[in-house]
Amino acid sequence: MTDLSLWDFCLDFFEKSLPPQQFNSWIKPLVCIINGEHITLTAPNSFTLKVIQERFLPDISRLALSFNINNPVVEFKIGKKTANPSIPKKIPVIETGRTDVKIQRNHSKLNTLLAFDNFVTGKANQLAHAAAMQVANFPGTTYNPLFIYGGVGLGKTHLIQSIGNFVKKDNPEAKICYVHATNYISDVVRAFQTKRFDEFKQFYNSLDLLLIDDIQFIADKPGTQQEFFYTLNSLIDTNKQVVITCDTFPKEISGIEPRLTSRFSCGLTVAVEPPGLEMRVAILLQKAVLLGHPINEDVAFFVAKHVRSNIRELEGALNRIVAYAKFHKHGISVETAKEALKDLLAAQNKQVSIENIQKTVADFYRLKVVELISKKRTRTIARPRQMAMCLARELTQLSLPEIGNAFGGRDHSTVLHACKTIENLRNLDHSINSDFNLLNQTLRN
Ligand code: ADP
Ligand code: MG
Repeated sequence: MTDLSLWDFCLDFFEKSLPPQQFNSWIKPLVCIINGEHITLTAPNSFTLKVIQERFLPDISRLALSFNINNPVVEFKIGKKTANPSIPKKIPVIETGRTDVKIQRNHSKLNTLLAFDNFVTGKANQLAHAAAMQVANFPGTTYNPLFIYGGVGLGKTHLIQSIGNFVKKDNPEAKICYVHATNYISDVVRAFQTKRFDEFKQFYNSLDLLLIDDIQFIADKPGTQQEFFYTLNSLIDTNKQVVITCDTFPKEISGIEPRLTSRFSCGLTVAVEPPGLEMRVAILLQKAVLLGHPINEDVAFFVAKHVRSNIRELEGALNRIVAYAKFHKHGISVETAKEALKDLLAAQNKQVSIENIQKTVADFYRLKVVELISKKRTRTIARPRQMAMCLARELTQLSLPEIGNAFGGRDHSTVLHACKTIENLRNLDHSINSDFNLLNQTLRN
């Protein structure tokens, strides 16, 4: 585990558990250097430093425990983020997920906390999980590349990291590289700048397992796409496993060369979808145990009913409840949960309005709202209209006749038909399903 992994993990934790403004004010400006048990935190001023000591140190120490730093010695300093002379030179390089060719094996940035063991499965991710397990057990020989796609916070990074951790355990000698696409881009740029393309190529081509996260970021970067195309071909041709994650279905990523997207789909493409209620409950129950604060089913159902968008948000809500309960020295009951999530629930309870749904869907399909509620029945308008009706049913308390009314005085049976059509199409057509999920998530946030 590298130093950066612990701090990355802390950043991730605080980003999830704190309101963005607090995260940006207190946590983001910090510089953290870890040397064995010695943690140095540099804050921009004494006030921030005091807040960190008082409010956040216990959490940082607790998180350090999961990285086997049992007796952390924490030192505080004041200084600027950019001008910190004590940051070892290697850090910017480790951020890309590796140091250099020779020592990469020890530094592939795998987060051991993201494992199959703690990945909860359900209808929404069963297929993706099974494919990931298959690939982890038989790298390079079954689905290559494995392409996992889905919306934010649905477990793509968790799955791809699980594959890495599994393979590493199975075969400690395997050359594994987990890299976020933005870091891959920086690698390409650096190779250009330093004229060290051979080294770059040699590194990527010599891997046994390449895990590349959020590939959509290479859109509109032709140089990077070309390099990645070569790497991908070279690895697949030599039966080395490649796993790719993305926020959409390959053919729908815009700004990526067709030869690359078609290569993406030549292995297996699987989706992770937003979890249903029971699965959200299961995830909360498990996460609470892992946090050392088990919750009962009532609490889990309460949270799962109100936090629906994705798993990251579920975790954030749970972290808040646990922090609240600890602070107030309460046990965790539905009442505690309600109190802890007060702000979040208030924001959620502001209902999604039907006008908002119509506007969002119209914008998404580049239509005008008047067209959406018009009598026109051409497919390019009718399908988005059905989508909007279906979303209105899902996201508002309105009755079928009320929804019909809002769509130019249509009958309740038309709305029902629209919902059924979209439901069926979601099972048959990737792009309709991903449109639905995207719109649904956008409207809920
Ligand atoms: P993505 O990469 O799709 O945006 P992540 O993999 O980062 O999403 O998941 C967001 C958070 O939710 C992570 O903390 C992850 O561990 C957790 N998570 C996602 N899916 C699951 C799951 N099926 N079981 C347990 N935890 C999950
Ligand atoms: Mg991710």
